[in-house]
Amino acid sequence: MGLCVLVQDGYGMFSMVQLHPLPSEDPLHLYTRKWEGRTCVLRAIKVVQRVTRERWTRLFSLIDSLWPPVMPFKVLGENQSCQGDSRHKGPAPSFCYLLSGQEGSVEPVEGQPLSSLYLPPTEQTLRDILQCELNSHRCSFVATVIYKRTQSQSSDQSPGEVWLVVTDPSLQEEQQSDGPPCRRTLAVCVTTSCVLTSSVAKAISTPGTFRLSFRDAVREHGGILCVEQSVVQLRPLVSVCCPHTESTLGPGSLSLSQAKPLPQPLPQSQPNVLPQALPQHVTLDPLGPETPPNSLCTFSGVIVGVDEDTAYSWPVCSLCGSDRLEMAPQKPQAFLCVACDSLVDQPTMNMQLEVFMNCSTLRDFTVKVKLQQSTIMSVLNCAASGHEFPGYEVENVLGKEVGLLSAYVRVLTRKPALSIGLEEICL
Ligand SMILES: [Zn+2]
Repeated sequence: MGLCVLVQDGYGMFSMVQLHPLPSEDPLHLYTRKWEGRTCVLRAIKVVQRVTRERWTRLFSLIDSLWPPVMPFKVLGENQSCQGDSRHKGPAPSFCYLLSGQEGSVEPVEGQPLSSLYLPPTEQTLRDILQCELNSHRCSFVATVIYKRTQSQSSDQSPGEVWLVVTDPSLQEEQQSDGPPCRRTLAVCVTTSCVLTSSVAKAISTPGTFRLSFRDAVREHGGILCVEQSVVQLRPLVSVCCPHTESTLGPGSLSLSQAKPLPQPLPQSQPNVLPQALPQHVTLDPLGPETPPNSLCTFSGVIVGVDEDTAYSWPVCSLCGSDRLEMAPQKPQAFLCVACDSLVDQPTMNMQLEVFMNCSTLRDFTVKVKLQQSTIMSVLNCAASGHEFPGYEVENVLGKEVGLLSAYVRVLTRKPALSIGLEEICL
């Protein structure tokens, strides 16, 4: 699915018009500026399907977020809209139409003000979204991505879901001790049905934090999903020390021009959103029984076991870190790095080690943790320059205290018993 517009006529009927696939240089903001909130004439439109609420729940959750309308509708057979009539406060529509057309099919009427049917999205803070009691609803917000994880589908190389761990100043500010604690970060799942613009896709594949605006994401089952009708766009980073905005993308990046915030068509569309900066060090939630999968947490504890099947080490280039080493033909003890074309006398040993831990915040459960190299080194008491993998003794590792460390929650199952798999990360 590419570019779509949701339209509503004066009688209250919604239709989704499917246009063309988005070109790679994503001029999405241009379309937004041209069409959003404007009265448009639709020409050369084909009716594809009449769809119902039962079968198209996602589309109707978007329609519900625009309901009830702010103005009364026209009624068929009457020329004037029925002022004061309360019928528009009835239930939201149970069906709508899917239409298809070309870009030129949607033509804004020149000189018209923004339509009073138009309801711009309201950006909420993440704290407001987390505290909302509604079961499933659409929400819009701006947040900083502090960690991301792409799950490519195993069958082919096409990109799978992307998990983004986000936070904003409302989740990072000091929490009141009397109220219920609020989570510090939130996992956003960008499903494969959500089309990402090239600038967003580039930011996701580049190291570092960045800010995104999420529009019409779905809050559901304690998490946030980006689906077909959700729009994800880059926003400039707000730096800690100064109010000027900056971007994580380097100079010469074409994406910068598209990273600017959209001009807001209506001043009331962004109430109370303060461009506050995040603290320099983001606070994470401690690991606990309620920690959701695909989230971030901090943990500490004692090693009570080693998964010996997953423990191994391999040599990497001491200059560039690549594992593409070959035997050097002239020097039998040395390696040739294929990646940086250097002769490596003493390669660095990379290690993988997964341990079982008793964590201080989760007393009665065993947590499996995939440790990072630096932590493995400190657990094994070996200097970072160690050339040999120190054929570790399990007894030397057991009982070692580890932490406080940050981790990504890889696996979390609650049945038949709580089982947690963590992967240590470095933010
Ligand atoms: Zn190398």
